[in-house]
Amino acid sequence: MILAAIKPSEKLIIMNESKKDLFKEKMGTMNFSKAHELGHWVLHVTEVQADMFAASLLMPKEIISEAVNELKQKGFVTFPELYKMADKFEVSISALTNRIIGLGLLYINNKKIYLSVDEMTGQMRLF
Ligand SMILES: [Zn+2]
Repeated sequence: MILAAIKPSEKLIIMNESKKDLFKEKMGTMNFSKAHELGHWVLHVTEVQADMFAASLLMPKEIISEAVNELKQKGFVTFPELYKMADKFEVSISALTNRIIGLGLLYINNKKIYLSVDEMTGQMRLF
């Protein structure tokens, strides 16, 4: 499914008009698609690298780290909190959780959120 493309000769990022409703409903998907294409444009990179560019642009490491660490203060983090954060950054929940996991700020396994690898593996040893 192609959501967007670039036309460097015309200096354009083109959004797939047939996905207009999806973009309207999911602003995060639209933002990520635009940022992804921008990554191709600026860096002439692969798909994975364009995704990394988009994640870094929309969810800067310093700002995400600060926001997640603030949530961790109370000893746990919930999905509703992460959904709220995704709304704030105007990204999808999967883009946000991928970024958070990629930065090693939280660990998610079987739809549970862990603050550390030790907590996650410790929990798993119980079973
Ligand atoms: Zn791409």
